[in-house]
Amino acid sequence: MNPGCEVFCVGNAVADVLARPVDGLPAPGASLRLETAALAPGGNGVNTAMALARLGVRTALTAPVGDDRLGEMLRQAVRAEGVDDSGLVTVQEARTSVSLVLVESSGERRLLHFRGANAHFSARHLDWDRAKGARVFHYASAFSLPAFDGPPLTETLARARRLGFLTSLNPCWDSHGRWLPLLEPALEQVDYFYPNQDEGRELTGETEPAAIARRLRRAGVETVIVKQGAAGCYVDSPEGTFFSAGFPVRALDTTGAGDCFAAAFLAALLRGNPLPQAVRFANAAGALSTLGLGGGDSAPTLAQVEEFLRGTPSCPSADGHPETT
Ligand code: ADP
Repeated sequence: MNPGCEVFCVGNAVADVLARPVDGLPAPGASLRLETAALAPGGNGVNTAMALARLGVRTALTAPVGDDRLGEMLRQAVRAEGVDDSGLVTVQEARTSVSLVLVESSGERRLLHFRGANAHFSARHLDWDRAKGARVFHYASAFSLPAFDGPPLTETLARARRLGFLTSLNPCWDSHGRWLPLLEPALEQVDYFYPNQDEGRELTGETEPAAIARRLRRAGVETVIVKQGAAGCYVDSPEGTFFSAGFPVRALDTTGAGDCFAAAFLAALLRGNPLPQAVRFANAAGALSTLGLGGGDSAPTLAQVEEFLRGTPSCPSADGHPETT
């Protein structure tokens, strides 16, 4: 029970095994020498909760792990950041989920994924008492938790709204290709939605961020933010539309950049920032997260984002410094 949490975050939990650089697989029987390899906390729920905590947001996480060593590693990783982990669910039916993350020299990555415990996590595991006092309900993993697909996600978001929370939704890649027909009913219950441009294209059939965002707002989302990797993001909200430029950095690994972006956006919003400043802050945090290997582990702290922004001139699309304290 955490009466003081600001964000109630629900999503998947994954143990990531990261390897870099992997620009191609070795031939059968051959081996490939790596510069770096690491075992790291991952999954959108874990990444987002860790990023929120590092940005000073009191966060409660509900996510599934197996009854095994990797589950314990994930539990310790979020607890070490000060995330309320009492909502982590130990699933008996399966082992902790694992992703093999093969990071290219460019920083782009390919995933080999074992779903494990995430396939056994459902809305019945949510203890809404843990959300008491929160301002935001964030669902970090649309399409990645099968028992939430369809009506259960719609009902979960509707319940969050009835309880008075702002609702925030991050989609994942739908490997079954169901996209908008599956998600559309849930979108009416969403205040903030953060597809990347590829996800937006699959959801809407549109290629341009403005057209993607327009279609998703027609589906009922209040504010759509289309993430565009290094370029930044495009925003369509009731107050208008604008593009917010990204920050040029030498990306090492983009794993978790989108989760960090959503966390930073919510952190800035919760501190009273208007939309343009909140997305600028999120672009900065997303960029900084690409400088480290891994998802949750590479999220920047509040001080790091603020220092980075102080040293970076304002971009014309979103002037002003976020008020983050
Ligand atoms: P996702 O991780 O969900 O696929 P993106 O790749 O678009 O989403 O990344 C989310 C955000 O992180 C971007 O909108 C941008 O702010 C930041 N970002 C991602 N990649 C880079 C990069 N190479 N350089 C600078 N910023 C980046």
